[in-house]
Amino acid sequence: MFDKSTWIKLPRNVLQGHGVLDDLSAAVDELYLSGDPFLVTSPSPDRIAGDRVREQFDGISSVSLDRASFESVERVVDAAREADAGYLIALGGGKPIDVAKMASDRLDCGFISVPTAASHDGIVSGRSSIPEGDTRHSVAADPPLAVVADTELLAEAPWELTTAGCADIISNYTAVKDWELAHRLKNVEYSEYAGALSQMTAEMLVGSADSIKPGLEESAWIVTKALVSSGVAMSIAGSSRPASGAEHLFSHQLDRIAPGRALHGHQVGVGSIMTEYFHSGARGEWTDIRDALSTMGAPTTADELGIDGETIIEALTTAHEIRDRYTILGNGVSEEAAIEAATITGVI
Ligand SMILES: [Zn+2]
Repeated sequence: MFDKSTWIKLPRNVLQGHGVLDDLSAAVDELYLSGDPFLVTSPSPDRIAGDRVREQFDGISSVSLDRASFESVERVVDAAREADAGYLIALGGGKPIDVAKMASDRLDCGFISVPTAASHDGIVSGRSSIPEGDTRHSVAADPPLAVVADTELLAEAPWELTTAGCADIISNYTAVKDWELAHRLKNVEYSEYAGALSQMTAEMLVGSADSIKPGLEESAWIVTKALVSSGVAMSIAGSSRPASGAEHLFSHQLDRIAPGRALHGHQVGVGSIMTEYFHSGARGEWTDIRDALSTMGAPTTADELGIDGETIIEALTTAHEIRDRYTILGNGVSEEAAIEAATITGVI
């Protein structure tokens, strides 16, 4: 009997380009939502673009968050209920979007993603990551109903946020390899379509490396396009597998033992260099990943991350404990193997 079924949740409207922030209300109108919008933002995006959102939604209530935390999620849930909001608009970098995504899940309403930095694939995906104490919780939620990515705004974001977004995409290479491996060894469900889309996204980004430069609005265009299609790959797969493998486990472990040192994308990029080495050996493709990262100005070494070698080794040898996700790290790599990988790849 055929009893397979799947539910793919995708953003319905994706607007990308110069000045599209001013089309936000038009994009929202098209969704036929009921109730009032509620704006979730943080101080600097609010300063840069808050008024342009308020102009389009008369009398919109809002919350400005200093950080992403479960407390912030509670704050948004309470304030949005108070305002009797029908849906949320998240304006900002990672923080307001992660918080709004989780709050909309709790409120059982939709949210619109309006990123002001192209720093990671969470601006489009259904995954939300919120720090709690010395750990980060990655929670499954619905992806945004719409994404409005204004490249003019995104191009003005600090450059390292854009290179972090690039590195998050480049890490798709190893994420897909880990997924295929888990499929072969552990019978984890694999989607060829999602795997191919994710890999192609990374290839296209690397192929456009020459157009990814500070001060060039086209960079923001290329990176957001890649973040959108990476998010779509995750939606098709119904999991973060197409964009999250051992390099993400390594980064999550760094967040635990050395919180706040480096950006998520930069950590997964460096992780990807080493996990690619585990996949394909000394003469393997890790050099391609390293070269792509360095061309775009993303870190490729522990020093550039601002994290010491010992911490890198600790994170690499314990990353497999983070969650039950089979990757090239298997049941853990030995300290000697970790040191060798990190040394040969020049990470330490
Ligand atoms: Zn990521």
